Amino acid sequence: KTATRTSTAPTRSAVPAVDAAGQVASLRSAYRSRRTRSLTWRRAQLEGLARLLSEREKDLAAAVEQDLGRSAIGTFMGDVAPVRAEIRHTLKDLERWARPQRVALPVTHQPGQAWTVAEPKGVVLVIGAWNFPLLLTLQPLVSALAAGNVVLVKPSELAPRTAQVLADLLPKYVDPSAVVVATGGAEVSTALLREKFDHVFFTGSARVGRLVATAAAEHLTPVTLELGGKSPVIVAADADLDVAARRIAWAKCVNSGQACIAPDYVLVEDSVRPAFVERLLRQLDNAWRAEPTRIVNENHFDRLAALLDGHGGDTTGGQRDRGTLRFAATVVTDPDLDSPLMTEEIFGPILPVVTVTSVDDAVEMVNSRPKPLALYLFTENDDTVQTVLGNTSSGSVGVNHLLYQLLVPDLPFGGVGASGTGDYHGEHGFATFSHRKSVLRKPTNPDPSFAYPPYGAFATRL
Ligand code: NAD
Repeated sequence: KTATRTSTAPTRSAVPAVDAAGQVASLRSAYRSRRTRSLTWRRAQLEGLARLLSEREKDLAAAVEQDLGRSAIGTFMGDVAPVRAEIRHTLKDLERWARPQRVALPVTHQPGQAWTVAEPKGVVLVIGAWNFPLLLTLQPLVSALAAGNVVLVKPSELAPRTAQVLADLLPKYVDPSAVVVATGGAEVSTALLREKFDHVFFTGSARVGRLVATAAAEHLTPVTLELGGKSPVIVAADADLDVAARRIAWAKCVNSGQACIAPDYVLVEDSVRPAFVERLLRQLDNAWRAEPTRIVNENHFDRLAALLDGHGGDTTGGQRDRGTLRFAATVVTDPDLDSPLMTEEIFGPILPVVTVTSVDDAVEMVNSRPKPLALYLFTENDDTVQTVLGNTSSGSVGVNHLLYQLLVPDLPFGGVGASGTGDYHGEHGFATFSHRKSVLRKPTNPDPSFAYPPYGAFATRL
């Protein structure tokens, strides 16, 4: 058996990237200690995370700044504040979410009682993306701990200093035998995914999402896939164009467009196209100057530069400097719809603007493509809102604003189809990391004979 394994296994380096089996075994033994079941333990972990965020905010922000060139205020708004809000919300409502829920028994099943119990899934793996490196690891961690799990966190290697700070600091603030951080890249995730987890929560690209789902399927492990894709913005002819341009420009410049729910491209009705594009260019320039950030690394910089070749549209902007990784906000009007710019997720500060003849035309275009993570609509008309809501499918919808749907504590956050599977945030996160177990309890008396073959009088009714 050993010989077969050696001959078919992929080549591995002499020193294993991570002792995956050992880490999972020790987490499982922490889980089996039963202490994670108590709400007191769970609250203590969340309070520890809150302390980490307040006492070490400077260290965390400095690491993100080194990794992504993002200012401390950007990290506060995009990473720290949302995780803090999640902790507060969870501490407030945890007891209610965790309570057994009574279920009515039909008369035919009485006497008895039925209810559901939320039990932790057990040992969970959280794999994060680099673009909001604290948010995308700590926010799932809040929900996983609140639900009573032990957690292995694998941050992205593209934000290595943040990953290291998490690895150094988390054990000081939460139960170190229940939360383990594994740093490293694909080789570490691959090694971890060979082990059996009770849930895998992945944030990243669809390409890697497929690999994660395939590996998890070997163990029949459920997965949450928080993926990306192209999130469109429909600008209807009746939209407030000033506000639309300002908000779209702001959302596109947050983290230089490196956000999973960033507007990817705009579909604008032809009657307002010139007025909209004129405003958009002005607002993008303002937004870019107000908070310039940089592209994460040369690979992504080159990928973005390549998207500006061969799209067949008109480009405004495009100034960039590979040395500093600064890439100016760029608009491409009327690109070829089959070009990579319009088929691949942009994940950067380039905004294609496509002209459509009507909102229905925009809806058709959205429906001819993979289901987006977010869909945005600017309109002042309720019927238009209903038309778009009723005839498209997306993870979330923002009407007259962008990104903020992510920050509403009780709204589930997740994709659909190609943009993901499952969701989290607030009670939805608690549910993701829990199994709701059905329980039926019956008294032993009565125990009538017609409940057993030949079923007495019931049999004669057939
Ligand atoms: P990625 O898929 O390249 O990497 C994500 C994680 O997977 C990293 O931790 C990485 O180490 C790991 N990984 C890489 N290769 C792997 C492999 N072969 N096997 C197992 N794990 C592997 O994604 P990224 O570049 O970090 O992030 C960008 C993507 O993530 C975009 O598509 C974006 O839309 C998406 N995203 C989604 C959300 C969301 O909440 N839905 C949030 C942020 C980013």
